[in-house]
Amino acid sequence: MPHYPPEPFRIKMVEPIRQISREAREAALQAAGYNLFAIKAEDIFIDLLTDSGTGAMSQEQWAAIMRGDESYAGARSYYHLKAAVEDIFGFKYFVPAHQGRAAENILAAVLVKPGQYVPSNMHFDTTDANIRARGGRPVNLVIDEAFDPANTHPFKGNLDIDKLKDFIERTGVEKIPFGMITVTNNSGGGQPVSMANLKAVAETYHAYNLPFFIDSARYAENAYFIKLREPGYEGKSTLEIAREMYALADGMTMSAKKDAIVNIGGLLCLNDETIFKQVRNELILREGFPTYGGLAGRDLEAMAVGLYEGLDETYLAYRLNQCAYLSKRLNEAGAPTIQPPGGHAVYLDAAAVLPHIPPGQFPGQALCVELYREGAIRGVEIGSVMFAYPDPDTGQTIHPRLELLRLAIPRRTYTQSHLDYVAGCTAQIKSRADQVRGYTFSYAPELLRHFTARFEPV
Ligand SMILES: *Cc1c(COP(=O)(O)O)cnc(C)c1O
Repeated sequence: MPHYPPEPFRIKMVEPIRQISREAREAALQAAGYNLFAIKAEDIFIDLLTDSGTGAMSQEQWAAIMRGDESYAGARSYYHLKAAVEDIFGFKYFVPAHQGRAAENILAAVLVKPGQYVPSNMHFDTTDANIRARGGRPVNLVIDEAFDPANTHPFKGNLDIDKLKDFIERTGVEKIPFGMITVTNNSGGGQPVSMANLKAVAETYHAYNLPFFIDSARYAENAYFIKLREPGYEGKSTLEIAREMYALADGMTMSAKKDAIVNIGGLLCLNDETIFKQVRNELILREGFPTYGGLAGRDLEAMAVGLYEGLDETYLAYRLNQCAYLSKRLNEAGAPTIQPPGGHAVYLDAAAVLPHIPPGQFPGQALCVELYREGAIRGVEIGSVMFAYPDPDTGQTIHPRLELLRLAIPRRTYTQSHLDYVAGCTAQIKSRADQVRGYTFSYAPELLRHFTARFEPV
C-alpha cells in the first residue's frame, strides 16, 4: 500500500457529515438534472468539488479572527497583513481584494487595452475571462509535455521559452501590456513551474521591457515542489524559495482561498508606483478602501497567519503526499490518473475508466454522477461538458484532448479513511463500468455551461 503521512494536526472541532441513502441520492440526482453543482452540499458525504476556500483554518487563524480590527481606515489587521506580504513576497506595494478574480479584474482594468495579448503558461479560467472582458486576448504557451497525461516531466507547468520569444516577436511588444505565469498550473493539472523556468521567463519578459506578474494561488505548493525536485534547492526552506521566486517578478495576483488557507481573500502586489496609484483608485471604486479591499478586518488577520502556515514544510509534505496517495489508490482500483499527481487535486482519466462512452456522451460527467450514486462523493467534470464547443467555421463540435474528472482536496479537511473510501467507491464503479451510461444535455446555456446545465441519461 502506498505511504500515507500521518496528519500533522489533531482535530479539535468537528463538522458532522452524513451519508443519505441510495434512494435519496438517486432522487437528488434526478432533481439536479444530473449536475452535481445543483445538489445541496448537505447531501454530499465527501466534497472534492474544489480546494478553493474549503480548507480548515488553524487555531492560530481562529484566534486571529477574534483579534480582527474592523476600523475603516488604517486597521491594525491591515498592517499585520502588510508585514507578512512584504516578508514573503517582497513587493513595494499591495492591496487586499476579496478574492483572486477581484485582483485580476483590477489589474486588467488598469493595464489591458482592447486588442492586446497577455501570454502565460496557462491562464486560469477567471484570469482568462478578466482579460477577455477588457477586450484582451489570453495566450497559453505551456510546454507540450503538459498535454500528455502519462508524461512524468517534473515541471509540467513550465512555460515554453521558444514559444514565448516567437510569440513576442510575432505580436510586437506594443500589443503586450504584461506577461504572466501561473504557479502551480491549475488548468494544467496543478503542475509546478521550476525556478530555472521562472528565471528564464523573467529574463525574456524583461528583455522586452514587459512587466512580469505571477498568478500565485498555489505559491507554497510550487515552492515545495521546487525543493523536492529541483537540484540545488533541497537545502533551502520554502520561505527562502518563495522569496527567490518573487524577487524575479514585478507583481502578482493571488487567490488566498488556496495556499493561504482562508475561506475568502485575495491580493494584488506590484513594484511600480504609477500603476499602483491607478490600482488604488480602481480598488476604491470596486472593492473598498485600500486598507481593507472588500474584506473584514478579521479576514485580513486570518490571511496574515495563513500565508505562513501554507509554507509549513511538514504540512506541505503531508498535503502533496495525500494527493499522491489518492492517485496511487485510484490506479490500484484500475482507474488511471494524470501523472505525476499535482499539488491540490487528482485527475481521473474518465475516457479510460469508461471507454465505451464517446466524448459526445460525456464520460467525465458519467463518472462524476456514478461517484455520487455510489458514495455521495462530489468531483467536477473537466472535459467535453466544460470545453467542447462548435467550430465557428464548420459548425462541427471540437472536443478537448482529455475527458477528466477532477477530485480536488480541501486543505487539512479529510483524512486517510475518507480518501480510502473514495478509492473503494471508484473500484466498485470500475467493476460495473460496462453498465454505466452516457449523458446528453436537456438544457445548456451558451457559456460556462457546466455550472447550470441539466442532463439526461442516454
Ligand atoms: C482560484 C484561482 C483563481 C481565482 O481566484 P478566486 O479566489 O476563485 O476568484 C485564479 N488563479 C488560479 C490559479 C486559481 O487557482
